[in-house]
Amino acid sequence: MTRDGFRAEEIDTSRPHPARIYDYLLGGKDNYEVDRQAAERLASVAPEARIGVQANRAFMRRAVRHVVGSGVRQILDIGTGLPTSPNVHEIARETAPDVRVAYVDNDPIVKTHADALLGDSSATSIVLADLRDPRAVLDHPDVRRVIDFDEPVALLLVAILHFLSEADEPERVVATLRDALPAGSFLVLSHATGDFADRSGAQAVYNDATATMSLRNRAEVERFFDGFDLVEPGLAQVPFWRPDAPPPPRSAEIGFYGGVARKN
Ligand code: SAH
Repeated sequence: MTRDGFRAEEIDTSRPHPARIYDYLLGGKDNYEVDRQAAERLASVAPEARIGVQANRAFMRRAVRHVVGSGVRQILDIGTGLPTSPNVHEIARETAPDVRVAYVDNDPIVKTHADALLGDSSATSIVLADLRDPRAVLDHPDVRRVIDFDEPVALLLVAILHFLSEADEPERVVATLRDALPAGSFLVLSHATGDFADRSGAQAVYNDATATMSLRNRAEVERFFDGFDLVEPGLAQVPFWRPDAPPPPRSAEIGFYGGVARKN
């Protein structure tokens, strides 16, 4: 048993994991053969997938700079992913060294790696919990230790909601989280879509993974921002959300929407 109560053999290396597929596409080393095969299948049916995940990561960095630049000092990052440097707390602290970050992921491998990297700190925590149970996330003592829900919070749901199916009621999940946030909080969200290229092949790669993928169109992704006001330029393909460099090649095909919104 680890201290989180799961056994090491519960780390499933027989099926591809979203976090490890993503890590491989980003050029990381924390993945297994099943994940690499799935990622290669994904890259063969969606040739811009590698550029897409890099562009999603770059969107996350610009969005974090934006919300910290707007004065937010607490970040709740659900669907952290395997640690990829610079991670959210490093980016945030370039702007404000006192930013506190609670990382949440439901993959024990993410938790184990992040624990090793972050160590014990009063300003960061890494929590093993599932987005599909948002109350458990909000009430987790290690979330509460770092996040004060009476002060503005930036909620990051970056490249995670497409792992929730309609049966998981993703709109209810987001609404529960939104209702816990005070005015002045932000939602940073990105989501896979088939609006720009046929993504059915990419979606199929996840059929035998530990989480399936639900592509959503613009209107469906925009609904997650109910109760928030999108900041300029609204929902955009990730390379075109406040770019700080020329867009990468094939940007027009990249199947990720991104947006940042404020709760007023
Ligand atoms: N946010 C990061 C990583 C995205 S990969 C980035 O954009 O760079 C998606 C992550 O969400 C993976 O680490 C996966 O383990 C996690 N995840 C998927 N479904 C989840 C769920 N229901 N609850 C919590 N985490 C989940």
